[in-house]
Amino acid sequence: MPGFTSVMTILKMAKCHWTVRRLQRYLDADPSAPLPAADALRVESHLRDCDRCRASEGEYRNLTRLLHRLHPIGAPDPSSVERVRIKAADAIADTTR
Ligand SMILES: [Zn+2]
Repeated sequence: MPGFTSVMTILKMAKCHWTVRRLQRYLDADPSAPLPAADALRVESHLRDCDRCRASEGEYRNLTRLLHRLHPIGAPDPSSVERVRIKAADAIADTTR
């Protein structure tokens, strides 16, 4: 039977796992997949208490900054959008043929 300490460790690990899985959505604040406000509060509260998850948050922030520097997010090239649209229409037509 696990002792009190190991149960606490497992509970903490579960909280960390829950938080890390939402960290990217929390930081990106992607409008197409927003993190529910209650989840965002839970993430913030855990980040205040947990050094390890705060370190992960720092790494995510650095990574995001680097990626934006390498490839600034802008509107997609209209010709690429059109090519994808035609391919998708073809694929749909193929499945109904
Ligand atoms: Zn944590």
